[in-house]
Amino acid sequence: MSPRKTSFLDLQAINAAHGPALSAAFERVLASGWYIMGKELEGFERAFAEYCGAKHCIGVGNGLDALHLILKAHGIGPGDEVIVPSNTYIATWLAVSHTGARPVPVEPLPETHNIDPQRIEAAITPNTRAVLVVHLYGQACDMDPILRVARAHGLKVFEDAAQAHGARYRGRRVGSLSDAAGFSFYPGKNLGALGDGGAIVTSDPDLAGRLRELRNYGSSIKYHNKVQGYNSRLDELQAALLQAKLPLLDAENAHRAQLAQAYHDGLQGLDLGLPHVPQGHEPAWHVYVVRCRAREALQQSLRDAGIETLIHYPVAPHLQPAYAALGIPRGSLPVAEQLQDEVLSLPMGPHLTVDDIGRVCQAIHTARQVFEERA
Ligand SMILES: *Cc1c(COP(=O)(O)O)cnc(C)c1O
Repeated sequence: MSPRKTSFLDLQAINAAHGPALSAAFERVLASGWYIMGKELEGFERAFAEYCGAKHCIGVGNGLDALHLILKAHGIGPGDEVIVPSNTYIATWLAVSHTGARPVPVEPLPETHNIDPQRIEAAITPNTRAVLVVHLYGQACDMDPILRVARAHGLKVFEDAAQAHGARYRGRRVGSLSDAAGFSFYPGKNLGALGDGGAIVTSDPDLAGRLRELRNYGSSIKYHNKVQGYNSRLDELQAALLQAKLPLLDAENAHRAQLAQAYHDGLQGLDLGLPHVPQGHEPAWHVYVVRCRAREALQQSLRDAGIETLIHYPVAPHLQPAYAALGIPRGSLPVAEQLQDEVLSLPMGPHLTVDDIGRVCQAIHTARQVFEERA
């Protein structure tokens, strides 16, 4: 008998749980004859702003655009610098470089994988305009000290919340912790569309107004263009599908937290680094990431046992060919470089049960000799 397969992600199963609501949303949009910038978008924007505890939500085409438009709306461009984490998905950096500004990396705390607030001040120069933090893997950054240092230097703070829909920091949701936050609704995110989608959340009404223009050709009155804007809109169909899924997000995140607890309990006593959740943090558990010095051996053992794992991310942005021109040499960001070699994302998501996690833990214990010997 071949072992039961444990997939990292199963979008068919995840979306099947929302089947009737998604079908009703599709039928409604189809029948409406209105597909861009209408009632469905307005409805979702209201619901998602309220969910995040913020005043405004602006739906856009994807998560990268959400971040890019936040920076553009603040006039950030050539000659400016934006502080970003050294370990993140490349989209965080691209949002900065697409404005013409320079991403300036700051190392994370290895325990939480999130930007180290103590290291931010040393990266500030007269050209620094903002700090763009990333709530990586679904856990919020330590925002209070970040906001303190940024405010002391007159800098804006923005959140890349693409992995953290619903996560809380000291009781407040991500998206409401800074000047503005960008979300992605890429299908595999905690709140995922059936295609591309994104949103910006802010409580600043002027910023919200500028963003509404920027996403729509720089126009709020049709054929009257105030600024050179973009075409980056969340369409009616995706907005309706997201609105249909939003009511179950908290329950899905609670389920993810149960699975994370099962991993935590099941992986004690091994030579593995487990996620650390500081006091006051309630992660959304987008992924469950362990650190292993013999990662390839562990990943191969799990593959042999039918368990799919992924690496988020195997190459830090400063080592990507895309950023060779920044001239940040290997060895200059040792924390990010060590993490890229050690992180392994175990299966996580609403498609899994606590028993599934038990099987993964079992397989890791069985593989123990292989990966502990090579470490
Ligand atoms: C997914 C992701 C993005 C980009 O979102 P897209 O919708 O794919 O453009 C940005 N930042 C992080 C951290 C992400 O995980």
